[in-house]
Amino acid sequence: MKNTYFTPGPAELFPTFARHLQTAMDEQIGSISHRSQRFRDIYKFTDEQLRILLTIPPTHGIFFTGSASEVWERVLFNCVEHESFHLVNGSFSQKFFDYANSLHKYAHLLEKPFGEGFDVADVEVPEYAELVCLTHNETSSGVQMRPADMHKLKRKYPKKLFVVDMVSSAPHPNLDFGLIDSAFFSVQKAFGMPAGLGVWIANEACLAKAERLQKYESMVTGAHHTLPTLWKHYQTFETPATPNVLYIYLLGKIAEDFNRIGIDTIRRQTEEKARMLYKFLDDSEQYAPFVKQERHRSQTVIVATTNSPADVLTKAKQSGMVVGSGYGKFKDSQIRIANFPAVSIEQVSALINVLKN
Ligand SMILES: *Cc1c(COP(=O)(O)O)cnc(C)c1O
Repeated sequence: MKNTYFTPGPAELFPTFARHLQTAMDEQIGSISHRSQRFRDIYKFTDEQLRILLTIPPTHGIFFTGSASEVWERVLFNCVEHESFHLVNGSFSQKFFDYANSLHKYAHLLEKPFGEGFDVADVEVPEYAELVCLTHNETSSGVQMRPADMHKLKRKYPKKLFVVDMVSSAPHPNLDFGLIDSAFFSVQKAFGMPAGLGVWIANEACLAKAERLQKYESMVTGAHHTLPTLWKHYQTFETPATPNVLYIYLLGKIAEDFNRIGIDTIRRQTEEKARMLYKFLDDSEQYAPFVKQERHRSQTVIVATTNSPADVLTKAKQSGMVVGSGYGKFKDSQIRIANFPAVSIEQVSALINVLKN
């Protein structure tokens, strides 16, 4: 029997993935040169599909990296001379902050306890911070920051660059790229692919900053995948190094499938499934939603508190459902349920029935 994966990444593969993989094999995508017209057409197609899906304007380029965490380093190297600013409320936003320290940036921190979220009114950006680092969906705790708050914050600080980690929620958040300078995700979460590709969206303001930093002789902006090099190659839909051609192809196909369904429908279905899960947790005596504030509850990674998570995971597994464990030290008190486009309303209903018993 096949399992259904409700894990927050790697996750259930999107139902069309296997078919696209077979087509890629039939077309020998794994062997084509990344300097060929065939590859440039693939990059261009994936770029177009992502632009439609996420409403990305021509001011922003779309680049490929090895993973999303690679982008933490790239964006800090390329967009921060001295100071970055981080909203931290869990393990992933904490790691973004840790990367800044590792790169010897002066990293400002605004921290909230695990399970709590940020509103625009909570946030004052330090005067000299150059890059504001936001995490749309804190995967460890199931907390989201609403895009409307991110947009308001940017309007309050229009001169600062804003970057959004949307790794475990894209394509759900409706970011306004007229305001958000940069965002990134990886494919093994809501895009329903195996791990192995990061996607970095960045605009001309980020590029201008990186070019300025490179002119300072003492400024190290990294050697690998600098924004100016990525941007230069992007002009002809190429990449500086040999990229994951197969996954760029597959991502384009999955994004095309998402566009066929329609982004509004995908967002609506995600919210419907999240409502079902939170309602179940709210009504249940054995479970409770971990995030108390409704407006901060993630739509894509639902975290529940329960007495014996290990038993719950075992029981679910016996019914062919793989549920995520609590993150780190929360293994003994929580479970995490990924609500990505790859799982249907029916599958979520079935999961709820199993959790009930
Ligand atoms: C998974 C995750 C990352 C890291 O992504 P990788 O593909 O493992 O590099 C970063 N941020 C968030 C919020 C995540 O959920």
